[in-house]
Amino acid sequence: MGQDAVIIGSGPNGLAAAIALAEGGASVLVLEAMDEVGGGIRTAELTLPGFNHDVCSGAHPMGILSPYFSKLPLAEHGLEWIRPSASVAHPLDDEPAVILWRSLDETARGLGLDEERYRRLLAPFLENPRGLLGDVLGPLGVPRHPLLMLRFGLKAIRSAAGLARSRFRGARARALFAGCGAHSILPLERMLSGAVGLLFLITAHVEEWPVAKGGSIAIGRALASYLRTLGGRIETGTRVTSLADLPAARVYLFDTSPAQLAEIAAPVLPAKYLRRLRRYRYGPGVFKMDWALDGPIPWKDPRCLLASTVHLGGTLEEIAAAEAAVWRGEHPDRPFVLLVQQSQFDPNRAPDGKHTGYAYCHVPPGSTVDLTKVLERQVERFAPGFRERILARHVMRPDDFERHNPNYVGGAITGGVADLFQAFARPVARLDPYSTPNPRVFLCSASTPPGGGVHGMCGYHAARSALRRIARLEVATLR
Ligand SMILES: Cc1cc2nc3c(=O)[nH]c(=O)nc-3n(C[C@H](O)[C@H](O)[C@H](O)COP(=O)(O)OP(=O)(O)OC[C@H]3O[C@@H](n4cnc5c(N)ncnc54)[C@H](O)[C@@H]3O)c2cc1C
Repeated sequence: MGQDAVIIGSGPNGLAAAIALAEGGASVLVLEAMDEVGGGIRTAELTLPGFNHDVCSGAHPMGILSPYFSKLPLAEHGLEWIRPSASVAHPLDDEPAVILWRSLDETARGLGLDEERYRRLLAPFLENPRGLLGDVLGPLGVPRHPLLMLRFGLKAIRSAAGLARSRFRGARARALFAGCGAHSILPLERMLSGAVGLLFLITAHVEEWPVAKGGSIAIGRALASYLRTLGGRIETGTRVTSLADLPAARVYLFDTSPAQLAEIAAPVLPAKYLRRLRRYRYGPGVFKMDWALDGPIPWKDPRCLLASTVHLGGTLEEIAAAEAAVWRGEHPDRPFVLLVQQSQFDPNRAPDGKHTGYAYCHVPPGSTVDLTKVLERQVERFAPGFRERILARHVMRPDDFERHNPNYVGGAITGGVADLFQAFARPVARLDPYSTPNPRVFLCSASTPPGGGVHGMCGYHAARSALRRIARLEVATLR
């Protein structure tokens, strides 16, 4: 019999694609390698019983603001966002931490001599932030808000370091911008790293970066539950390794890396396209630690406990040097560390009085170096006494991530380098990047625009592309 669409992988993009297809009237089957749906949004007791850690994604500005997820009835399917008091705390040596509040004015007031400059940079984008996000998170095309996009694009195309240095005079605002820009996983001197810095600041002034109640897996479960109400089917524990594993359908959407697409679908894709998929660049990996803690993290500036995410890396210069070192294949002594403290806001994450800690830093692709001491030293620098609170630790290196999910090639967590070329031409330069030369095969993972993060927009756009074709195709096996 077969179905209209088979989706390989149930990450946020695979599930978003399945839902968009089902909403468009298609019958849908999702095949997932792991025993549970979710991909980058899983939660597990990684350290001790009762401590629920987010294995991958931890804080969700893109999830709560996703133009597609916001249209879905995910709350009815159990998803509850918990908003912290602030999105980011950025501690600095020997002075109060910079805090990124939802209020533009309150944030600006904490930036000393850059108070007015910060306001001037962000305010124009806060007039219609959701409109801007709709355009930024879409595939390259004619924007709905061309003037706003032009204004954003002229700044966003710059490097995070260049933009921060030219707009701000003081270390505080520059450090805040650098921390947000470092989410790009690009060297901060590289063009377009400014886009991520700016975008993340904008999101924080619209919604505090939330955590999902009970763990990020709640997002996956809500998506899967809604998909089932639309008649979609999900088979977990089903790894696709070749075309022979795929049942008959009209279209196939791969929520996988370009490398896996090239491997699995090689017999039905032209050699030239396969060569281009194999040239795709994945970029640095991550080294991640999760801790079971005896109490909250003892930050020198206790206001750091108010933020879901803490950026540890000091000044712009220090963060830029650390990220540049990673791109040279080095392991900096003082890496830029992204820390999330979910249990501070969600009591379901740890037993009474106890806490979870989650932190990672960027490392060269495929690195096998144990950075436990380096990472903990960076936390200890801003939270003396942190180590004494550790009850148990769990470590994931790039090879652990790749084993956990083959999409994380070399430990790269956001679907591949998003530099000036690959941010838009992902996985290859094509008018419709979700399509492939085979009219029945699509890619819908974070290796398509708009790239990494839990927003489902890659899946949504890929599904729209597939829906335009589906009626003209026969149900058949893919051989
Ligand atoms: C450590 C870490 C921290 C992160 N932090 C954040 C964060 O705080 N906020 C944020 O928004 N994003 C974060 N991300 C990024 C985010 O998780 C990813 O960008 C997002 O999950 C990508 O979604 P996806 O659907 O494209 O792919 P994935 O989430 O990778 O899902 C792909 C799914 O496909 C399955 N699969 C793969 N190959 C096959 C196969 N051959 N057969 C069957 N199934 C297969 C996998 O098992 C997986 O379930 C983080 C990622 C990591 C690893």
